[in-house]
Amino acid sequence: MSKAEITNWLISSNPSQFNAIDAFKELGEVDWTNPSNNRINIGDIVYIYISKPIQKIAIKTIVIKSDIGEDELLANDEEYILSDSFTADNYFRLKLIQFIDNDLLDSTHLLQNGLNAIPLGKQTIKSELLKYILDNENSTIEPLSNNAFFENGVYETVLTEIITAQEINPNITSYIQPYSSGTTVYLKEQEPTPDNPITFYISTTTNLGTVQYIGEIIGWEDKRELFVSDPNRVQVLNKHILEFQPGEKEIYKYSDDTKTKECVNLISIRNLRKLALPFSVSMLVKVSDGTPLKATRSQAGGWSEVYELDVIESPVFLDDINAELEKNIVESKLMSQGRRKRLEQASEYASEVQIVSRGFKRNADVIVEVLERANGVCEKCGCDAPFIRAKDNTPYLEVHHQIRLADGGKDNVDNAIAVCPNCHRELHFGV
Ligand SMILES: [Zn+2]
Repeated sequence: MSKAEITNWLISSNPSQFNAIDAFKELGEVDWTNPSNNRINIGDIVYIYISKPIQKIAIKTIVIKSDIGEDELLANDEEYILSDSFTADNYFRLKLIQFIDNDLLDSTHLLQNGLNAIPLGKQTIKSELLKYILDNENSTIEPLSNNAFFENGVYETVLTEIITAQEINPNITSYIQPYSSGTTVYLKEQEPTPDNPITFYISTTTNLGTVQYIGEIIGWEDKRELFVSDPNRVQVLNKHILEFQPGEKEIYKYSDDTKTKECVNLISIRNLRKLALPFSVSMLVKVSDGTPLKATRSQAGGWSEVYELDVIESPVFLDDINAELEKNIVESKLMSQGRRKRLEQASEYASEVQIVSRGFKRNADVIVEVLERANGVCEKCGCDAPFIRAKDNTPYLEVHHQIRLADGGKDNVDNAIAVCPNCHRELHFGV
């Protein structure tokens, strides 16, 4: 495998076609068309040049997903499309790093510093121009997207103890003691506090490629200093550890019995959660060089400063939403008195949720076999199929599982029947 090299791109955006600045301001991430199928890779940096009348580089972004098909697009950025000249079958996802507002990055200055022509479409940024941009991008910046902290491999027993302690006291502060003799410079510099926490992503020692836990870092201390300057605090911490994190035994200075491996960082955390949907470590992009973290890892230890992600923590299933609606319909019928009033007070827009779908990979042989068995006749009502399928000139029938797959039904010929669409609806909704 070749080492991924980062490409810096300059992409022009026409403000009469797409309101890129507001889109990034509101959404943070935007899917960008790639009509000419340029090779855009995760981790590439994309500077967005806003054409007339602005004529400046205004947005710095990083590619966090590439080769996105139409079916995976973020729907919400459509709102910022001002003319519908956007068509492509290949897109990439850009995440905001920062806005840039510096006249030194306008077209005149860019042309004087290595740019060949006013940007149109996409081009890679040559080294002379890149140096000029890097020198000037930070003079006036708006806040970056939040950064977060990833730790590679914590014993799951440590995390389980913390979650158990939180069940009794949700606001409890807990402690993580990474086996490392090097200071976590990022945490030292950021000085996280309960009012200013840092998002914490954690993989476990038994599954290093996956982020399985998330929490908030609310403090960092250097244990070497702590033992010298505040022995009372060490005592208090040890009492806490004994009670709530007994597996940790104590605040330890060394991670081995022979006292040769120093263990210097004490990380205070709260609100640790196990993710219902763990995600690959490679979804995290390092702040230092914009490259994704490697998902294939063989050793625990180490950490990285990464860009924060929107993580789906509690999946909502379509089945659950439908079940809730059914329940509410029953209730609405029972409470017909207040319905008019409720309608008046209700929001006119449906609230949006992110849905995790649960699907079954069905056996194609079962479908074909059952359709052949039915031979164009509905196996429930005995009528002929209502029409011929355009795709292959076969009679249109639907294959229905008598015991639903979701209820543990088998995906086999005996549990399936070929039915006409009417009967299929009836099987699902009839008495
Ligand atoms: Zn039928």
